[in-house]
This record gives sequence, structure tokens and C-alpha cells, in this order.
Amino acid sequence: MRRLFALPPRLGGLGIVDPHSLTCELEYSKLICAPLVNRIVQQETNLDNVPTKQNSMKASIRQQKHLAQKSHSEITVNDLSVELKRSVELACEKGASCWLTAIPLEQHGFTLHKSAFRDALCLRYGWHPSNLPDICPCGSKFSVDHSLSCPTGGYPSIRHNEVRDLFTNLLTEVCHDVHKEPVLQPLNGEVFQKRCTTSDENARLDIAVSGFWGGHFQRTFFDVRVFNPNASSYKSVQIPSLYKRQEQEKKRRYEERINNVELSSFTPIILACTGGCSKLTSIFLKRLASLLSEKHHTEYSTTINWLRCRLSFALLRACVMCLRGCRSKLHRTSRDFNVLLEAAESRL
Ligand SMILES: [Zn+2]
Repeated sequence: MRRLFALPPRLGGLGIVDPHSLTCELEYSKLICAPLVNRIVQQETNLDNVPTKQNSMKASIRQQKHLAQKSHSEITVNDLSVELKRSVELACEKGASCWLTAIPLEQHGFTLHKSAFRDALCLRYGWHPSNLPDICPCGSKFSVDHSLSCPTGGYPSIRHNEVRDLFTNLLTEVCHDVHKEPVLQPLNGEVFQKRCTTSDENARLDIAVSGFWGGHFQRTFFDVRVFNPNASSYKSVQIPSLYKRQEQEKKRRYEERINNVELSSFTPIILACTGGCSKLTSIFLKRLASLLSEKHHTEYSTTINWLRCRLSFALLRACVMCLRGCRSKLHRTSRDFNVLLEAAESRL
């Protein structure tokens, strides 16, 4: 585990470097300083080329370090158990480690209290968090995987709605005609080729906007799904196939109806609760970041990083809530409140 923690977060580690392994740092420092040292020794006053030489040396050292980290990571991950290997694979996904590398800025919501941070580490490495109940109020045995999918208390829905609301707010900034939970047009005998396509009268998706993928009148519907890749039914499935399967499922259900009846396009937004996302979702995030950076005149790289961090914290907070949230006797009207309602009714 210590060797794993020494890896950078993007390779599944925590970036806690082992000082014993830093044998080349002095050599690197000497190489970067060499152009400046030579000028000083030769007593030259012209320092014009020094920053350029130093920058190219820094880039080449960075490249060497990346290669060394990659081979180090391959050796380390090979020694891990099957479960931990899968956890590391999930942690290596784009956006899954943003919460570890973000500057803890409170105004952006990039902070976690200490228990949430410990729980987040447990979720990252598949460890068992401390002080969990043995039995869930729904009657099943309580475990991390159960907590992430148990509907008692409504936490998986809160997790879904948090992501939906985040994207709705951001899309409002860059698109027009943004609707949350739009109801699809009723059908008048239309027949679909795919049998799974919904013909539900009250079918509704998560978000509809105009002008996201193309011109002002081009409408796009989005539907969000947040799933637990470690759920027992998914554990034996390869991670890329999992995303593909979820994407296909959503497309089979909605795409044909949206294309043929609404004359619009459909983009499923598929996210793993560990922070990763499907290929289409990644393209969606890039497009959203590019529209936001255009509107606010910010760098694309800064915007996409901010967006990934925002999403990472939203998912993480929701997962910690699934794990620690109170599930017993929730959503029942309390006796005191019933008395208050009766009093109000009698006054009417
Ligand atoms: Zn339960």
C-alpha cells in the first residue's frame, strides 16, 4: 500500500512521495540550474536564453519522471489483489482523483470534513469504513455497496438529482430554452423499430436545451445515470463495457423516440459514483467546458479542471451521504406536525 500511495493520484495513488525513492532530485536540480551556473561562472551579463533552456530541461525531466512513474505503477499494481486492482483502475479514470488534487477552496465547495475525507479514501480503495451499522433499516445486511444503492432514505435519488441540477445550472449559462425534467410529446400511434423504446405517456428526461451541439434551434435531450461500478451484478464486468452497457440501455429506451418524434438529439450522461464517466459523457463535458470558457473568457484547461472538480465533489459528497446518512424512519410526517396540520385545517 505504501508503494501505491507514493504514486500520483492520476495513477491511483495519493501522491505521498517516499523520500527514499527520490535519488535523482539533486541531479535534476543541477541540470536545471546548469545554464544559470555557467553564465555566473563565465561572468556573463546576458541571461536572455537562460529561461528557455531551463524550461526545455524541466519539460524533458517531467517526461522522464512520467515514464518512471508509469513503469513503477505497472509493477505496483501487478502485486495488488483483484479487488484492489479494480479500485485502482476506477481511481485512474479521468476525473476520479480531482478531489485529491483540488486546492481546498471553500467558495467552490472543494472541501471535505475529516470523517468525509476518511470515508472518501475508504471508497477509493475499497476499505471497510469504521462505525457502520450491521443491518440496514430496509432489513438487508449493511455494506458499502448496499449503502450506495439502497433506496431507503432516498440517497441514490439525491445523488442523481445533485448531478442533474449541477448540469442544468451550467447549461443555463451557455444554452437557451433550458428545461429541467421535460415531458416528451404524447404519441399518436407512432411505432418504433426498437422494442425497448419507451411509449410511456408521461415519459420525461432530465434536461432539454437548445443550441448545445449545433445551431440555436437544435434541441438536445439529456438523461443522467449515476451507478455503482462495484455493485455485485457489475463486479465481474470490465469497466469500459460497463459504461457502454449503460449508454446502450439509455439509448435503446429514448433515442429513437427523441430522434423521430421530438426531431432532437439525445445524449446520455453516464457517471460512475467513483468519479469516472462514459465516452459520450466525456465529450459532453469537453463541449460544456469549451462553451463555458468561451462565455467567461477563461482558459479551456482551467474550466475543464474546475468542471471535473465540481463533479467529483458532488459525486463524492453524495456517496458519503449514502454511506452515513440516517435511513431510519425518514420521510414520515411527525406526530407534532400532524397536530399542527389538524389545527390549521380546523381554523380553515
Ligand atoms: Zn438498505
